[in-house]
Amino acid sequence: MEVHDTPAIVRAVRNRAPDAVIMMDNTWAAGRLYQPLTQGVDISIQSGTKYIIGHSDNMLGTAVANARCWPTLRERAYLMGQTVDPDTAYQASRGLRTLDVRLAQHQENALHVANWLNEQAEVAKVLHPAFTDCPGHRYFARDFSGSNGLFSFVFKERLSDTQLEAFCDSMKYFSMAYSWGGYESLLLANQPEQLNRIRPVAKVSFSGTLVRLHIGLEQVEDLIADLAAGFERVNKT
Ligand SMILES: *Cc1c(COP(=O)(O)O)cnc(C)c1O
Repeated sequence: MEVHDTPAIVRAVRNRAPDAVIMMDNTWAAGRLYQPLTQGVDISIQSGTKYIIGHSDNMLGTAVANARCWPTLRERAYLMGQTVDPDTAYQASRGLRTLDVRLAQHQENALHVANWLNEQAEVAKVLHPAFTDCPGHRYFARDFSGSNGLFSFVFKERLSDTQLEAFCDSMKYFSMAYSWGGYESLLLANQPEQLNRIRPVAKVSFSGTLVRLHIGLEQVEDLIADLAAGFERVNKT
C-alpha cells in the first residue's frame, strides 16, 4: 500500500526514452478513482476480475490506451486472440452498472475498519492510502478521487505460526484468499521476511506480521467483532 508519483515517473521515462510505452496497472482504482492516461501513461491495465465483476465469480482483464498506442494494442490483442467470452462480458457490463455505489460502500466500510484498527493495542501501523502517514499519501491526495476496500495493517509483533493460524483460521466473515474486489471480506497474511524476498529494491520498514484485508459489503460491526475475536485468539496463543 504505497502510492507513487506517476507524473514524476512519466517525466523521468520521457527524458530518457521519449517513445517508450508506459503502462500502469490501475486495478486498485477500478478505473474509477484514478485516471492514469491523464497523467501521461499510455496504456492502463486493469483486472476486471476485481471491482468490475464485483462478485468473485468471473475473471477478465481490460486495457485502455491513448491515441498513440491504440492501433498497436488493438492489433496485438487481435493477433494474440485475447478476447473475452460473451457470458463474462455480460457479467462485466452488469457489474459496471453498480460499480460506483459498491466502491463508495467499500470505501466507507474500509475506512471504518481501518480507523478501528488504528486504535488497537496489537496494531503497529495501518497502511491505507487515505491515511496521512501512509507512504505516498500526498500523491494519493493529489491524484485520487477516493479509496476502496483494500488496505493492510501491521502487527506490533511478528506472530508465531500458531498465533497466525489462531488469527486467520477461525474468522467468521474473512476468508483467506489472494483476490479481492468482490462483495465479501478477505484476508491474507505475510511475514516481513517473505515480503522482503519479493521486494528486490526497497525493503519493508516494519518487523511485525502484515495482514492485508479486503473489506466487503457486510455490516462493519460484524467485521470488527470478527477481527477483535482474532486479536483475542492471538493474545491467548
Ligand atoms: C488480481 C490482480 C491482478 C490479476 O488479475 P486477474 O484478473 O486475477 O488475472 C493484476 N493486478 C493487480 C493489481 C491485481 O490485484
